[in-house]
Amino acid sequence: MNTTLYDATAHDIARVLVGQPAYRVKQVWQALYEQLRAPADITNLPLSARNELAAALPESLVWKTESTDASGDTVKFLWNLCDGGHPIETVLMLYPNRATVCVSTQAGCAMGCGFCATGQAGFNRHLSAGEIVEQVVKAARRAKEIGHRVSNIVFMGMGEPLVNEAATRAAVERIHDDIGISARHLTISTVGIVPGIRRLARWPLPVNLAVSLHAARDELRDELVPINKRYPIEDLVAACNDYLDQRHRRVSFEWALINRVNDTRRDANELARLCKRLRPSAHVNLIPLNPTPGWPTRGSSPRRVQEFADILVGLGVNATVRRNRGTDIDAACGQLAAGQTITPVRLGRTEN
Ligand code: SAH
Ligand code: SF4
Repeated sequence: MNTTLYDATAHDIARVLVGQPAYRVKQVWQALYEQLRAPADITNLPLSARNELAAALPESLVWKTESTDASGDTVKFLWNLCDGGHPIETVLMLYPNRATVCVSTQAGCAMGCGFCATGQAGFNRHLSAGEIVEQVVKAARRAKEIGHRVSNIVFMGMGEPLVNEAATRAAVERIHDDIGISARHLTISTVGIVPGIRRLARWPLPVNLAVSLHAARDELRDELVPINKRYPIEDLVAACNDYLDQRHRRVSFEWALINRVNDTRRDANELARLCKRLRPSAHVNLIPLNPTPGWPTRGSSPRRVQEFADILVGLGVNATVRRNRGTDIDAACGQLAAGQTITPVRLGRTEN
């Protein structure tokens, strides 16, 4: 594959713009990352140079479709990778005072969590750093068009970031250095790749860590999250404490509530005990499981979700119930790419 536009270094751009004045490189760089301009819209660059740039350093993501949820505050993009046409997705979530982009790090995922649409579909390939950055740029451009500034990035789309660690780390650096989003607004979500967590604790940039826990005993977690057999809960807790020692930031645990599977009083007690083994205690994000075609069990009812949260809070655990954003547009991990029916709508609403 050619170097893609957002994988290119300033040197790569300089090589393409040979013969142009030196200031052009900086102009292009600022246009791409600060002004979030599409390459064809860098109109202060001569047309011939724009054409050379497009030919030598193509974009990678081909817009396939997008959908907006009923409230208009969640937009989901589906792209095809320009080489194999594999689908990947990006979600833009708008809030009154901020906007968050959820990016994919792989086309598919090899971790095989049964409840996850991406896991059900299997693995295609890693994304490059530029392909991760391109998702941020394109979603941020859309946000800008409707009067929002992207402030947060979560690595919670398709794929396991710490299995594609080098590209994820390089993308984090470019998002921080060139797009200008601070490390405390970047969150890596992992299924629990223990050596990756230990390395992440030592990355130059202090990003947030979220761990998709879903069960606090090995017997159940082995079933829900098969990689737990390789990195069991004891090792995961030790790696999280290592991160906490290095970073002095909270870890959050993601917990998708599955009806009568991991939403009982026993599960809440086990989770509370586990949270307290972290110093400081972990923050828990609860979300009802989004139904997917390949997993027969339903998400917990709103009442059971609230009861579970109340037990945790009663045990002194910091727990938040998350809104299941974009359920009506299949915005849960991997669902759009899994080819469920959607109605493409363009976002026509401005907030703020
Ligand atoms: N591979 C990483 C990041 C991507 S998944 C990880 O697993 O953490 C992002 C989050 O969505 C994870 O917490 C994952 O467990 C959760 N998830 C996957 N499928 C889901 C579903 N059907 N309903 C609710 N959450 C789901
Ligand atoms: Fe992969 Fe995360 Fe889905 Fe598990 S939940 S299959 S690790 S994307």
